[in-house]
Amino acid sequence: MKPLAWALLLTAAAHAPTASAYGNAGHQQIGAIADLQLRAAARRQVQSLLGFDLRVAAIWADCVRDAQPDASGGLQSRETAAACAAFDSPAQRERMHDYARRNWSGCDDPPPKGCHSRYHYTNVAYQHLRYDRAYSGTRDDDLVAATHAAIAVLRNRAAPPPFDIRDRTEALLLLAHFVGDLHQPLHVGTVYLDRDGRAFDPDRDALVAEPQADTRGGNLIHDAISNLSLHAEWDQIARALSATSPRQLIGRRSAVPPTSGPIDGWAAQWAGETLRASHSAYAGLSFIADPAAPGRWIAQFPDHAAYWRDKETLQRSEVIKAGTRLAQLLNAIWP
Ligand SMILES: [Zn+2]
Repeated sequence: MKPLAWALLLTAAAHAPTASAYGNAGHQQIGAIADLQLRAAARRQVQSLLGFDLRVAAIWADCVRDAQPDASGGLQSRETAAACAAFDSPAQRERMHDYARRNWSGCDDPPPKGCHSRYHYTNVAYQHLRYDRAYSGTRDDDLVAATHAAIAVLRNRAAPPPFDIRDRTEALLLLAHFVGDLHQPLHVGTVYLDRDGRAFDPDRDALVAEPQADTRGGNLIHDAISNLSLHAEWDQIARALSATSPRQLIGRRSAVPPTSGPIDGWAAQWAGETLRASHSAYAGLSFIADPAAPGRWIAQFPDHAAYWRDKETLQRSEVIKAGTRLAQLLNAIWP
């Protein structure tokens, strides 16, 4: 489709909780935690490439997911979601539009919001202990690959296909978001269910023929108590966490140890750790088919209040870890 056939439509509706890991509040808190821990060289690079903080940049990749084809063939910008207002200038709209167009097609089974909307997650069975590209649910355009692609461009290397990252500014906008997604357990780990609602590992059990086996990071599982999908409730962070100052969250000394090995392998390492964290999101639950919606499930909790408390405790540590690691990564790229 020709470039002019796309329009950038920024709508509030697209910012429903399912649209983004941790929602905007979580991503912004992660960015703010990173901002505080940048050293001078990295801070200079961030300001020169973006002109604003990582806290602002952290939601760019979600705001850009509202780029939609326009039947009239024109370019227009409609309503702008309040959280995306920082990007509501002609230059920023042009950048978003251009990114969406370059990353729209070319993937298998393109989703309604374009191929780039798949860059935000990977769907590894939660029973695994590490991320491995050989596992079901991983892709050449999944979250781990997308993070590696953004890192490559920041280091003046080419992004591997299918990613089309125009420049280091775009790479930094993406990275500020993807490192957050990499620390949302349900953006990495999923539960595969057989027809009776029993969890199985598609890489070990011979049940892969189930058409609706993957619950898509809990998007197909409903929690009747919170009235949210399991995925959405893991996207939401507690008000107490979003309202706490990033300085207070970090504490006097960072409790997040540096990641070992070459930078190119960090995203896969982090995904493995987040996958192990996703055990607590699924293990212990049982699932019954949703009579009102074929292919969807209703989760049953042994103790919902305890599940919610444990979720918020884990989210707090993941948010701190994500922000600190984003800073560590940028400090390593720009020593
Ligand atoms: Zn995302």
